[in-house]
Amino acid sequence: STLLASDFYPEISRQLRQVFKLVDFRKNQLGAIIAAMQGKDVFVLMPTGGGKSLCYQLPAICNGGKTRGVTIVVSPLVALMKDQVEGLNAKGIDALLSNAETVGNDWQCLVVSSRKPSLWYITPEKLRDSNKVNEILTILAKENNLARFVIDEAHCISTWGQDFRDAYTALGSLRDRFPDVPIMALTATANKHTVADIVSQLKLRDHAFFTQSFNRTNLKYVVQKKSKVDITHELVALLESRQGKTGIIYCNARRTCENVAENLREKGINAAHFHAGMSATEKDQAVHDWRAGVVPVIVATIAFGMGIDKSDVRYVIHHDMPKSLSGYYQETGRAGRDGEPAECVMFYSYQDKTKLDNQIEKSEDSTTESKERQKNAVREVYQFCENTSECRRVQILQHFDERFAKSLCRRGCDTCEADRETVSKDLTSNAVDAIKLIQLLSHRGDKLTHPQFVSVLRGANTADVRSKGHDKLPGYASCSQLPKELLELMLSRLLYNRVIETVAEQNRRGFHSNYLVLGQNAQGLLSGAESFLVDWHPKPEK
Ligand code: ADP
Repeated sequence: STLLASDFYPEISRQLRQVFKLVDFRKNQLGAIIAAMQGKDVFVLMPTGGGKSLCYQLPAICNGGKTRGVTIVVSPLVALMKDQVEGLNAKGIDALLSNAETVGNDWQCLVVSSRKPSLWYITPEKLRDSNKVNEILTILAKENNLARFVIDEAHCISTWGQDFRDAYTALGSLRDRFPDVPIMALTATANKHTVADIVSQLKLRDHAFFTQSFNRTNLKYVVQKKSKVDITHELVALLESRQGKTGIIYCNARRTCENVAENLREKGINAAHFHAGMSATEKDQAVHDWRAGVVPVIVATIAFGMGIDKSDVRYVIHHDMPKSLSGYYQETGRAGRDGEPAECVMFYSYQDKTKLDNQIEKSEDSTTESKERQKNAVREVYQFCENTSECRRVQILQHFDERFAKSLCRRGCDTCEADRETVSKDLTSNAVDAIKLIQLLSHRGDKLTHPQFVSVLRGANTADVRSKGHDKLPGYASCSQLPKELLELMLSRLLYNRVIETVAEQNRRGFHSNYLVLGQNAQGLLSGAESFLVDWHPKPEK
């Protein structure tokens, strides 16, 4: 409403209809556009498919506002940039792309012919390495012709995520070189630590922040332990009741994709496979057949997905446990983009976890820190799978630092659907022991990661625990009597209630780890004024 009263609104709304042929804004789009036109730094955190592009494409063609001139867009995916530039040109918008192939062209276009495109897409490598590009930017800035820098997929600047890109680091100097040019950062994958990291690296000032719930209401989440290695029987049962519907089956290995697709075909299910080891022609064929609905089921590695936006995917099945919860969220997120109900079924096993751990250990291009981080991510997924007491949505969204009331899940996941008996457990003394341990450590200037904390509370007798002297800590083994599931539930609830919180810390080599510290609501428990009850749904005896 105050947004509609903005001086910029008439022009924005006209461009939306006339140029983009759209009628309405999606959540946060208008707010982000107006903030950009006011010349502010802007941070947009929006799930995939939410409509991030419009947030910078629309202000780029408006004449009102504080900042006129060329909008610089930095994005890591050349294919996506090409698509966008083509799409914009088709709308009659002047947009230009500079990547590794466009040697010298930029100079010709922008300086010699003094063309002023509305949007200039530049790869991060080109922005870092090309003198010409940087000269042009300096000229544009001098002429007051730089509207703003747009950093798409901004999480690539953070060593936190799996998508860290070297060339993104150079973007940290934009603010110093062009102090008067506003910056807009956009991403679909960032928890609070990544957001803070992005803000500090890009040196955003007083930025307008737009975020929304990452809950996907139309998705149903089901997690199932594999009964044996070969789950063809389970898959066939799932697929037969969904005949003719479009779906994706994700596998962790190329060989598995081929085998699973073949097994399904043998059972009369029309399935194709897709992985990075296939030739370009084979891949194109598989994608084409699946998109056209000729082959409804595609069995793929996670190489399949970037830029695939088929809106009527009715189910995403994980044949193996995924590598991280962020990955799981992205992959399952490809289901139901049309808003209609869709299902996400994950199969997992302890062997899946071990396999992933071994792969990480064997990989030659990772540092010790990076391996540790990847293994923690795997452990987190395994905890998620095993934690059948907590709503799946609560767990997934907690990963993005979003608090979700499980009553809103409405039986939309396996744990909320299971009609298990509810047992109210008083875990006050366990919780107090746990947070006293954190308090004691913080007085000593020390911290534990989540897995380390679990090991100490359970009284794990491992080399790692002994070598760090953690077995001497008060609180060691204080929760050894609790079933592991209940301990995880306790920690999940303590985090949810902000009795404990996670902080990120960077080590000398620039890598982050997540540590537990006391949260804003710790005092009540510490002083003995409050008790701590959880609703537990114990697994039925088998
Ligand atoms: P993201 O980059 O956040 O994944 P995109 O910018 O690619 O999302 O937009 C996803 C889809 O939503 C595109 O097909 C786009 O045309 C469409 N879209 C974006 N904004 C709107 C809107 N206001 N109304 C209708 N469709 C929209």
